[in-house]
Amino acid sequence: MKVKVAINGYGTIGKRVADAVSLQDDMEVVGVTKTRPDFEARMGAEKYGLYAAMPERVSAFEEKGIEVRGTIEDLLSEADVVIDCSPGKVGAENKPLYEKAGVKAVFQGGEKSHVADVSFSALANYDEAVGKDFVRVVSCNTTGLARVLSILRDAYSLRKVRATMIRRVVDPKEDKKGLVNGIMPDPVKLPSHHAEDVRTVLPDVNIVTMAFKVPTTLMHLHSIAVEIEEKADVEDVISIFEEEPRIMLFSKEDGFTSTARIIEFAREYRLRYDLFENAVWRESVNFHDGELYITQAIHQEAIVVPENIDAIRAMFELADRKESVKKTNRTLGIV
Ligand code: NAD
Repeated sequence: MKVKVAINGYGTIGKRVADAVSLQDDMEVVGVTKTRPDFEARMGAEKYGLYAAMPERVSAFEEKGIEVRGTIEDLLSEADVVIDCSPGKVGAENKPLYEKAGVKAVFQGGEKSHVADVSFSALANYDEAVGKDFVRVVSCNTTGLARVLSILRDAYSLRKVRATMIRRVVDPKEDKKGLVNGIMPDPVKLPSHHAEDVRTVLPDVNIVTMAFKVPTTLMHLHSIAVEIEEKADVEDVISIFEEEPRIMLFSKEDGFTSTARIIEFAREYRLRYDLFENAVWRESVNFHDGELYITQAIHQEAIVVPENIDAIRAMFELADRKESVKKTNRTLGIV
């Protein structure tokens, strides 16, 4: 029997997770929700069946001629698990609904970690989510960091990590806010919260993070420096990355001079140019004075999608980490 999945909030993350769930043979989408009767609601209604995220909004959809099957509560009564993809902090407000309905829930990185029993990143701590009712998939930046650091942690003893994040200011669809011409220290007082978030899934990693917003919408960029106990060389690290499907290596020699070029590649490579993999620059992997340097780009709209699928498998004990990650990778074309 397939796990029945509800998507609460059919926005940037919700629509991608819905499509990813529908590619799996052990889970299915039973419906999605929206708050407003806009074009996304119309698409969600046609593709998966639409429910009103707020009961009082049912008539707003009907007035626009968008078929609505009921309310979030009706949807929850059909589901085994809800993937809360509502805006940051709203998931915590939705949690009592899920508890009342007796369904499991996956929250996103815009929520505080205490919303769930465990924070999750598949390569870092899959086993901690096994059998859990409430799991939070960490944010896009944290997922990007946690993946690289999990792989390095499995190979070496990490003494200290420093990571600077150059963050895209908003997603491409945004037309109400942004940063037109400036660089914004975010936060001004360092370090940033991302280190604390990484430690929710990798508690033993000694990491400090800094973050700045820039006027771009395509990807985040991470500059990472890792002090490693052992002697290692660049080729060892590159071959470790080559073996991990959720890391994709890009080379300046091939014309990948910026995030713009990586996205141009992704536009041909995958639907919605979703890059589920960390995009690591091959030439950036380098040792200096015993410290390992890495530059990577993260497609913020896509990176957490495979993690949501793995979280569902862990919560319902459908597969162990290796099996789940392999299956998710195969179905999403992560090779
Ligand atoms: P979004 O604004 O694109 O989508 C949110 C959706 O939730 C909208 O479609 C809206 O209709 C719906 N919604 C609004 N209020 C709701 C409510 N009360 N209940 C249910 N649904 C409601 O947002 P997003 O970018 O998809 O972000 C969703 C979550 O994923 C946030 O926690 C965010 O921090 C996290 N996240 C976002 C990104 C990213 O780059 N977009 C990356 C990783 C994690």
